[in-house]
Amino acid sequence: MSKRDFYEILGVNRDASDDEIKKAYRKLAMKYHPDRNPDNPKAEEHFKEAKEAYEILSDSQKRAAYDQFGHAGVDPQAGMGGGFGGGGGGFADAFGGIFDEIFGGRGGGGGGGRSNVYRGADLRYNLDISLEQAAHGTETKIRVPTMEECGTCHGSGAKAGTQAKTCPTCNGAGQVRLQQGFFSIQQTCPKCHGTGRIIPDPCKDCGGAGRVKQHKTLSVKIPAGVDEGDRIRLSGEGEHGVNGGPPGDLYVQIHLKQHPVFQRDHNDLHCEMPISFTTAALGGDIQIPTLDGAASIKIPAETQSGKVFRLRGKGIKGVRSHTHGDLMCHVVVETPVSLTERQKELLRELEESSQGSDRQHNPRAKSWMDKVREFFGE
Ligand SMILES: [Zn+2]
Ligand SMILES: [Zn+2]
Repeated sequence: MSKRDFYEILGVNRDASDDEIKKAYRKLAMKYHPDRNPDNPKAEEHFKEAKEAYEILSDSQKRAAYDQFGHAGVDPQAGMGGGFGGGGGGFADAFGGIFDEIFGGRGGGGGGGRSNVYRGADLRYNLDISLEQAAHGTETKIRVPTMEECGTCHGSGAKAGTQAKTCPTCNGAGQVRLQQGFFSIQQTCPKCHGTGRIIPDPCKDCGGAGRVKQHKTLSVKIPAGVDEGDRIRLSGEGEHGVNGGPPGDLYVQIHLKQHPVFQRDHNDLHCEMPISFTTAALGGDIQIPTLDGAASIKIPAETQSGKVFRLRGKGIKGVRSHTHGDLMCHVVVETPVSLTERQKELLRELEESSQGSDRQHNPRAKSWMDKVREFFGE
C-alpha cells in the first residue's frame, strides 16, 4: 500500500512553518481523535496517519530527510527514523504532550495525565531576629531571590525571531519509553528534560530558561512569641510553577540571635544575677532587667550562690500558649576583686571575728565537710 504524502495528509504546503504544521495537526487530531469518533472506524486510521505525518514534519531533521528521500528517508525499518511510537503503545504514549494541551489533560487511550505541569518548589528563608522581636512580634522586610519572566524573550527562552520546537526525541510528550526485556519503562525525556520542547536558538539573557534571577522584597509579619525553628509560611511566594503549574510556598524559618542577658527555654527566660557578697549576706534590693523594662528583686539576708528567683509572668507568651512564661534569675555571689589595703584589712578582721565559729557562718561548707567525713568513714 503506497503511503500518502505527509504534507498532503496535513493539508499544508511544502514550505509550511512549524507553527502551521502544528496547527494543521491539531485540527486533524481534534477532528479524528478516536474518543470523539466512536462510530467512525475510519477516524482512527486518519488519526494515525496525521500523527505519523506530524511526527516527521515537526522534527527538523526528519523533515529534511523526508524532503530529500521521501518515505524511505524516514521509514523506521530503514533505520533512519527515530525509534518512537513502538507499536501498540496507543495514542497517549507518543502524544501525551500534545493531547494534554488539546484535551485539557485528559490524555489519550490509557497513558494517564502526563502533562509536565508542576507545582513550583517550596523555598526556605532563614531569618535571624532578636529575642525582643520574638517576644513582642515584629514586621520585617526580606529580600528573596526569584525567577521572573525574561524581559528579552518574554519567557519563551528563544532568541528573537526564533521559536521553541517540539522535542524530537519524545515528540513533545516529555517522556520516553524504553524497552528492557519484557518491561517497558517510562522515563523523563533526556533531551528536553520533560518539557517536551527544545530551543534550538536560546535567548542570550536567560540561556533559554525563559526566566531570569531577580530579587523581590516581601513583608513578613512575625507573630509575638515565635521560637527558634518556627516557620512562617508565605503562600505562593516560592518558586514559579512549571508550564503554568501553581507556585510553591516560601517558608520563613526563625532563628533567634543570642541575647546578651537572657537565655530562652521555651516560654521561660533565664538570666544570671551577680550580687555582691555583702548584699548576699545582709540582703537588699537589686534591679534586674526584664523584656518589659527594669524590675526590682528583694534579696533576703543570707542568700546563697545558685539560688533561683522566679519572676512569674516575666517570660514570653508563646505563639500557642495563653500565659506568659517566667523569668528565672540565678544568683551568683561575686568574690570582690581589686581590694584596697583598707578593705583587705576589714575582711581579715571579719575572718578573725568569726574564728572558732566558722561552721556556724558557712552552712554549705559545714554540710560539705560532713559529707566528706561520711565518705571517708570517719
Ligand atoms: Zn530570555
Ligand atoms: Zn523530549
